[in-house]
Amino acid sequence: MPNYRDILSINEQYALDNGKENTAIKLLLMHFAGFKPTDLMLKLDQEMDPVQYRRFLYAVDDYIKHNRPIQHITEEEFFYGHRFCVNCDVLIPRYETEELVTYTLDYIQDFFGSTPIDVVDIGTGSGCIATVLSLENKNIKAVGTDISDKAIDVAKRNATSLKADVEFLQGNLLEPVQDRKFDVLVCNPPYIPNDEVVDPLVKDHEPHIALFGGHDGLDFYRALLENVESVLKPRYIIAFEHAYHTAKVLKKMIKQHLKDVKIVQLKDMQGKDRMTFIFKN
Ligand code: GLN
Repeated sequence: MPNYRDILSINEQYALDNGKENTAIKLLLMHFAGFKPTDLMLKLDQEMDPVQYRRFLYAVDDYIKHNRPIQHITEEEFFYGHRFCVNCDVLIPRYETEELVTYTLDYIQDFFGSTPIDVVDIGTGSGCIATVLSLENKNIKAVGTDISDKAIDVAKRNATSLKADVEFLQGNLLEPVQDRKFDVLVCNPPYIPNDEVVDPLVKDHEPHIALFGGHDGLDFYRALLENVESVLKPRYIIAFEHAYHTAKVLKKMIKQHLKDVKIVQLKDMQGKDRMTFIFKN
């Protein structure tokens, strides 16, 4: 059997020769070897188990020849340090959304201190936002909604395996929580304009219902802003993730729908306008 060093270099080259990411190979190798991040460096000269090696090679082909996202092959993605199960029924959690969660947690702390608060995550998908908010701040009681039954199943499984006490409800946008009032609403809705050219790795594998947001990518913000205050307490925070090129239009829309609010727009780590926070005091 070859050792991990050779397996890595041969397959990384194979990926690069086919225009794919070499970093994906390392992640696949660690997954199929059952390694924690530090293990690989310590075991580079050891031989790989033959059964694990075969599974790994099969996965590499799946990634390179069939262009499957590695998160679908491994059925997992780490979000905020927690392992989330993902499949073709939910959006694969993104790094940008971790930033949305970080800022949301900070703002919640500043705005509400240590009082218990109710948070709703609209379009929860894998449940990553609601679950992490609940795990990271014990004062948060979180609810997640999604129009997709299958997504709700995935979200419930994730919260259970991470021991997070989150309620998940199936239904369109605010519908399942119409009779409730929240302190915070978080939403990372589908925001890609319908006719935008999207990488096949994304378009061919992730649910379109979780990706596309109408002709300008703003359909879900529009729909939410119409009624959002009906599910919010008088003092609230709204946290949106959005496409970088829609920040200005979104701000305008918010001003049309919500009175006496403070709007803060932030860039992600790539320097792109990515998040909008709305505060009502
Ligand atoms: N809330 C989930 C996430 O941020 C799903 C978002 C979506 O499906 N657009 O990953």
